[in-house]
Amino acid sequence: MRLVTIGSSGKMGSDRSRYEFECSHCSEQTVVDAPVQEQLLGRGCIFCGRDVSEQDFELDR
Ligand SMILES: [Zn+2]
Repeated sequence: MRLVTIGSSGKMGSDRSRYEFECSHCSEQTVVDAPVQEQLLGRGCIFCGRDVSEQDFELDR
């Protein structure tokens, strides 16, 4: 059986951190991985569209 890595080319999947996101505006919660976290920081909350900050994320262990 062969494992196929989806997504980032080059990296070997060592950066698979997940974050609990809770929007400080609409209080919606979701769990995201690092690339999605960066999208949220850049584009705003997926639920209400307002700005989010790194403080809205908590590392999920
Ligand atoms: Zn929101």
